[in-house]
This record gives sequence, C-alpha cells and structure tokens, in this order.
Amino acid sequence: MYDLVIIGSGVTGYGAAMYAARLDLSVVVIGNVEGGTITLTDDVANYPGYVQLTGTELAEKLREHALDYPIFIETGTVTDVFRTKEKFFYVVTENKTFLAKSILFATGMKERELEVPGHDELKNKGVSYCALCDAPLYKEKVVGVVGGSDSAVKEALLLAKYCPKVYIIYRREKIRPEPINAKRVERESKIEIINNTNVVEILGEKKVIGVKLDRPHNGSDILPLDGVFIAIGGIPYSSLAKELGVELNEKGEIKVDRSSRTNLEGVFAAGDVVDSEFKQAITGVAEGVHAAYQAYKYVNENEFIFTCQEEED
Ligand SMILES: Cc1cc2nc3c(=O)[nH]c(=O)nc-3n(C[C@H](O)[C@H](O)[C@H](O)COP(=O)(O)OP(=O)(O)OC[C@H]3O[C@@H](n4cnc5c(N)ncnc54)[C@H](O)[C@@H]3O)c2cc1C
Repeated sequence: MYDLVIIGSGVTGYGAAMYAARLDLSVVVIGNVEGGTITLTDDVANYPGYVQLTGTELAEKLREHALDYPIFIETGTVTDVFRTKEKFFYVVTENKTFLAKSILFATGMKERELEVPGHDELKNKGVSYCALCDAPLYKEKVVGVVGGSDSAVKEALLLAKYCPKVYIIYRREKIRPEPINAKRVERESKIEIINNTNVVEILGEKKVIGVKLDRPHNGSDILPLDGVFIAIGGIPYSSLAKELGVELNEKGEIKVDRSSRTNLEGVFAAGDVVDSEFKQAITGVAEGVHAAYQAYKYVNENEFIFTCQEEED
C-alpha cells in the first residue's frame, strides 16, 4: 500500500516524488521511459539553477534527488487504474498491481504525427521525431523541420550543427520560439524559414527524397530533402485518467485547479498532460510539487480502512 502512486517518470514525476517523500508519504513512481521528454534535447538553458545542461543530465539530477529519499521507481507501463469502494486505487502494470491512497498522473504527451501520404512508409527512413537521436545520421545532408514552436526551432538549431542546410517549414505567418532562440536562428545562415506553408506529402520510396508543399517555394512545390524532422506538438497521455472519470478539456488535457487537483478526490495531475498553456520542465516540476503537497493533505485528512482481502504489491 502506497500513500501516492505517481504515473510517469519524467521530470514532473521525479519532482513530485522528491517532495512527497519529504512530506513522509510512501511513494512509487511508475514509468516506461526514464527521464521522459526532456531527454530529447541536449540544450536546456532555462531551468533555474543551471545555466546550461542536457535534458538527460537534468532528468538524472531530478531522479537522483528523488532517490535520496526512500522512494521506489518501477519500470513499466500502467495499463489500468481503478478505484475501490473504500477510496483506494489499484494501479495495474503489465506484471504488477499497486494499491494507493492517492495517485498523480504525470504522464506527459506523445508526439503528434504528421498525417500526410508517405509518412508511415518513410518513418525511420528519413522521417524522424528526434533531432538529438538522429542528427548525426544527416551529416552534410539537407533536412527540413516541420513546426514553428520553440522545440521545433531548437531541433533546427541542433541540426544546423551537422547539416549545410536546414529548412523550417511552418504553416503560420511567423515561427514562435523563445526570443533567445529567435536570435540564434537569425544568426544561423544555414537555416531558412518557409512560412505559411504546409507539407502535404513526403516523397521517396526506400528513403526520403523530398517533400511536396502546398505552395511553391522558389518556384517549385517540391522541396528536395534527405530528412524530415517533425515537431508539431503532442497529444496528452490522458486515456487512463479519462477512463477513471477524470475530466479532460477539448484537447484531451487533464483539467486541474491551481493546486494540481482534478475533479476526482485523491487524483492529481501535473506537467505536460494538464491543461496549462505553458509547458516546460520547470513548470512541470512545480506543478508536481503542488500535487505532492495536495496528496499529503488528502492522505492525512482522510481515513482509509482497507477491508478487501486482495493481495497488495
Ligand atoms: C525537443 C524538445 C525540447 C525541449 N526543450 C526544453 C527546454 O529546453 N526546457 C524546458 O523547460 N522544456 C523543454 N521541453 C519541454 C519539456 O521536455 C517538457 O515540458 C517536460 O519534459 C514535461 O515533463 P513531464 O514529466 O510532464 O512529461 P514527460 O517528460 O513526457 O514524462 C511523462 C512520462 O510518462 C510516461 N508515461 C505515459 N503514460 C504512461 C503509462 N501509462 N505508464 C507508464 N509511463 C507512462 C511517458 O512515456 C513519459 O516518459 C522540450 C520538449 C521537446 C520535445
């Protein structure tokens, strides 16, 4: 029996675990990718206290800090969560079941896929979702990044270290990076921005040879490329929460109040999976800490009497 089960081992989950353990809650973090999304970048320069570090380093520091307390980290995917009549939760993975007084969804989001012809056939044959993982494969090649967010721009900046030419292809008028990254892009002569343009097809048979655009660029709607990196945002991992009865917004994000509480007693959510506008490592960690404190209050203010005979983990 745990006071708090945290689903998701990204920065939000680790931050919440550290704080919950400080508050003397018994905690397990269950996650299928250690460190989560932040490990996809090699340049984190906006986490207070660290001028610059890689995403993996940041995740590792938060994990180490959490493990400085008596918490458990379990590798696995949660496949089911349900509530008993006595207010307990069962959190089920492929091979274990955890019993909890409260739960925190810190499940983040998965990449939104570019739904155009050629995408599925050419995924991992020139279509990539991770510049940090794949950029070295494109040394001296011409690549495109689809998207205009700060993350997309950071992907382009990383690729420009390897590639002679990087196009940012964005459907709106103006890309929207943080000002510091906007300046970096302006200074990077290898990056060219193609605004107001959609990729409508990815071309190639065995590997990517280019993309088809919905409006001509330099007189042609075909842009020859060796690789296409997709960075068009994410879809929240909120289906388990939904099945439990947690309210979502129209984007599928979990609705929370300012203290990371959902509409269900004992169920909290934080980080990229919730309905906040600004999603960053530091905001996820802070929300996770709020959730830990609320879980502490919830666990201490309620009486829990376990009457079932089921085996607990
Ligand atoms: C390319 C890129 C660059 C970025 N750069 C920065 C930056 O420089 N600075 C910054 O502050 N932010 C940056 N961000 C944003 C930042 O990565 C996220 O805001 C942050 O990592 C969110 O953390 P999280 O813990 O909420 O979610 P995640 O990191 O996504 O972690 C959630 C974890 O839960 C797991 N999970 C989901 N469902 C289940 C389940 N059923 N069972 C078990 N595990 C599950 C997921 O697989 C994932 O590992 C960047 C994002 C990207 C994509």
